[in-house]
Amino acid sequence: MRTLSLAQEQLDAMIAHVDSQLPLEACGLLAGKGSSVEKVLLVANQAQSPVRFVMDPIEQLQAFEWIESQGLELLGIFHSHPAGPETVSPTDIAESAYDVVNVILSFAKGYWCVRGFWIQDDSFDEVTLQVVSPSNQA
Ligand SMILES: [Zn+2]
Repeated sequence: MRTLSLAQEQLDAMIAHVDSQLPLEACGLLAGKGSSVEKVLLVANQAQSPVRFVMDPIEQLQAFEWIESQGLELLGIFHSHPAGPETVSPTDIAESAYDVVNVILSFAKGYWCVRGFWIQDDSFDEVTLQVVSPSNQA
């Protein structure tokens, strides 16, 4: 996937969540159809760590079940790097388990930078995050 589309309010929801969890890492899922995000799902970081995340397995399972029940697909996984890089880390690459867009929200510069990446084998490519206003949606 080269482009992931999401609404401004979905971007705001991700930022509000990861910001509320500082200085800990926070995470969640992006569900939708094709390349268009329709729902942001927040998942607790079981690791409760400023440098890594482990999705709470029960919340993750419930989120997966909800996504399926709505006829949607898992399009992305997002997590924050409170003091870390804007790109996926070697750990993120090593632990990547799904063929979905990895959205990283980095606070290293003192404000949130949000970028998307597609991990393949031991490397990654940038995925353009396209913020669409509601009036542009079909
Ligand atoms: Zn990471």
